Amino acid sequence: MLPGPQIYYRCPHCSALIYNRSLMSGNTFGAKHYSDGKMIAPMLPQFPDLTKCKKCDHIFWLSDLRPVAKKELGDDFDGIDWGDGELEQAEFLEIDDLFRALKKVRSTKKIFNVRLQIWWGYNDRVRYGHKLFFKDQEDANLWAQNCRALLLELGLQPTSDDNLAIIAELHRNLGETELALETIKRIKDDELSKFKEQFIRECSKKNRRVFKIGEQKDDYDDWDDEPDTDAKYEAYV
Ligand SMILES: [Zn+2]
Repeated sequence: MLPGPQIYYRCPHCSALIYNRSLMSGNTFGAKHYSDGKMIAPMLPQFPDLTKCKKCDHIFWLSDLRPVAKKELGDDFDGIDWGDGELEQAEFLEIDDLFRALKKVRSTKKIFNVRLQIWWGYNDRVRYGHKLFFKDQEDANLWAQNCRALLLELGLQPTSDDNLAIIAELHRNLGETELALETIKRIKDDELSKFKEQFIRECSKKNRRVFKIGEQKDDYDDWDDEPDTDAKYEAYV
């Protein structure tokens, strides 16, 4: 993995400096793939596009901004007025902020991107071993609405195996096992056959939670030990 330059921007609201890391090259060695399409790869870290200024709380897309500077690794780099205080590194948004962002975005592509991040954000609660999937009824309602909106949008897009995998997973999360199975069986790509088998097994176990693709049985066992999660699914959806 080869880090790229740090790229500096100014918050469009308060002009505070914020930087994003970048990558020259990486690889998927040791990557974990999940049933919701998220990949966590230690050698291929992801950096946010949608982020917020920690000084003024303003939410914005870095790709909408013109970088004010780039700092190569080992660069002393003093051609910029750093101002006061600490430099903030751009970070991915938490679920609350993603919902806040959703109210401001207009393009279909960005709305889909934010909704996908929200879905993954909830699933992170399983990925990182949180005890509860939902905080309260409101949290559960927002989750379900977001899943429905994703399904609606995916239904408008051209059918592809990738889309079918996400549609199937959303139905499985929502507890619509028949629809999930019907959809997953429409995937044609042979390379996804092992994933399909695992998906069908998880459906038969009535597991609605995100799972890690591949043979990682110990992890499944850990997740199975979270008694609250299913109960909360049942209670709130
Ligand atoms: Zn700001």
